[in-house]
Amino acid sequence: MVERLAPGLHIVATPIGNLGDLGARAADTLRSADRILVEDTRVSGKLLAHIDAKAPMSRYDDHSSDDERQRIVALLGDQAVALISDAGTPLISDPGYKLVRAARAAGHAVHTVPGPSALIAALTLAGLPTDRFLFGGFLPPKPKAKGDALADLAELRATLVLYESGPRLADTLALMVELLGTREAAVAREITKLHEECVIGTLDELAQRYANSPPPKGEIVIVVGPPAAAESANDAELDTALDEALSRLSPSRAAAEVAERLNVPRKRAYARALERSK
Ligand code: SAM
Repeated sequence: MVERLAPGLHIVATPIGNLGDLGARAADTLRSADRILVEDTRVSGKLLAHIDAKAPMSRYDDHSSDDERQRIVALLGDQAVALISDAGTPLISDPGYKLVRAARAAGHAVHTVPGPSALIAALTLAGLPTDRFLFGGFLPPKPKAKGDALADLAELRATLVLYESGPRLADTLALMVELLGTREAAVAREITKLHEECVIGTLDELAQRYANSPPPKGEIVIVVGPPAAAESANDAELDTALDEALSRLSPSRAAAEVAERLNVPRKRAYARALERSK
């Protein structure tokens, strides 16, 4: 027996390749919804038939007109409307952002049923730092804009996660070598599907590998580790810099200036500055 869902917008994550990854609450929500918004009725029709969800489907994407969006929003007061995308989590390089904003602005409830997303799945496979990461979605396709976008990310001390297509992979990796330098990286492909693979190496190694082979088939996520931390100065370098700074500044100011310049902890610089100024 399917329970009635609360009215409002229900964001539902669906599998990124393996139907077994559809969560129980996701399936229940889709079976109980009054209407299901989809990107492509053929793609989502298969998933909905698989779980016997019978609500009518309507096409929705963020290019839908404001009028269409407002017609959907007007339903949310008394209908449970589910939003899914072709695969993974709606709103993540997929439609939904404008609809969630419009639903909230009109005071309607917004619920989420979290689940698969290629970005998190790739991050868990890559073996690169996960404490701080930036999801960059798809880079712009044109080389100049792509280079500018990568240059913006180059200084960031975080792992980068980017969506990419097979035909563009080799060029993107080559540009990354140029603009991001030597870093550990991973190319995760067809995650959760039959031909899942995660190839790891430095950006140079990966760029060479894909430059010398036909474009890989299927769906791809590139994960790039953070830039190596600048090497910390040794004691002799620290002392030289502090002696010069102490000829102009108090120990605490000298320590602050040198710590910043040489990328050493301020506590270490201050302890040394006190020693040197005795
Ligand atoms: N909303 C989706 C999500 O949460 O992952 C992403 C949608 S975006 C339009 C599609 C891109 O996600 C693909 O081009 C690919 O870069 C990545 N992707 C989706 N499924 C994937 C999979 N099974 N393996 C690797 N990458 C995948």
